[in-house]
Amino acid sequence: EVIVVGSVNMDLSVRVRSLPAPGQTVSGGDLRRGSGGKGANQAVAARRLGARTALIGRVGADEFGAELRAALRRAGVDDSALGIGAAATGSALIVIDSTGENMITISPGANGLLDTDEVAGQAARIAAADALLLQLEVPIAACLAAARAARAAGTLVVLNAAPLPADIGPELLELISGTDILIVNEGEAAGLLAAGGDARRGFDPSTLASALRALGPREVVVTLGSRGAVFADADGDPDAFAGFAVEAVDAVGAGDAFCAALTVHRVTTRDDLRSAVRYACAAGALATTRRGAQTAAPTGAEIDDLLRT
Ligand code: ADP
Repeated sequence: EVIVVGSVNMDLSVRVRSLPAPGQTVSGGDLRRGSGGKGANQAVAARRLGARTALIGRVGADEFGAELRAALRRAGVDDSALGIGAAATGSALIVIDSTGENMITISPGANGLLDTDEVAGQAARIAAADALLLQLEVPIAACLAAARAARAAGTLVVLNAAPLPADIGPELLELISGTDILIVNEGEAAGLLAAGGDARRGFDPSTLASALRALGPREVVVTLGSRGAVFADADGDPDAFAGFAVEAVDAVGAGDAFCAALTVHRVTTRDDLRSAVRYACAAGALATTRRGAQTAAPTGAEIDDLLRT
């Protein structure tokens, strides 16, 4: 089983020709509602790849919360540890331009109320799981409590350190140092290296992953959008995978599909990190060819087809 501790958000999105500048108003297409939140997205993406998946998180006692829970159930994600908090369900306000580039503002709402007690109550389940998959849209203290339970039991800890908070404190650094696999995008990688005292400017992408291993994770993967990913394995050897050429229409959900696929591959095969990254790049690429977050996550058969090309 894959246990995800993370966020559940209602994505409210509008497509525009070009993104608004500060102070500017632009008019776009019809409002779309979609199930989102990095936690829920990654849980649904892992489930679509065939893994038994449960989500530990919180929604509000409102219409969005009920709708999002129903979507998780329809996708086959276990929602028995999805609590109800005294705040509105988290929401994401998304604007997407004609090239697929996006701008997102998040209201965390109930996600921000996930506490360590709730997570500690699930310690036995985390201990029995194959992998714990974390992101940073719920309080870091809750992630840390989950990671400690996982570590004590030898459950694989995968951390997608996104979104990166403005100030990177000791709790986050402890979380990162105890992670088996750290996954970040290029911007997050640079932010973490700067916070870790590595203040070089203009990081060379090929060295990002190996440099991040200094923060403690056993394996590091840095995603580079259409350019694929760079990674460093437990020996610290840097390597890269160029990614797949696809017709991208919407980048939302690519990173989440990537993280879920990497995690599922890692717990279901004995293959090396390179094949896991290749599999995850295929998942990310396929997710960009479809709109939405959870709706865009590919199946294992779709990934296998792309890998054969
Ligand atoms: P995030 O959305 O978290 O910033 P990235 O943009 O780096 O993450 O995308 C995650 C992964 O999805 C990439 O490593 C790549 O494998 C895949 N991907 C993203 N955008 C594209 C694209 N335009 N073409 C092909 N693959 C893509």
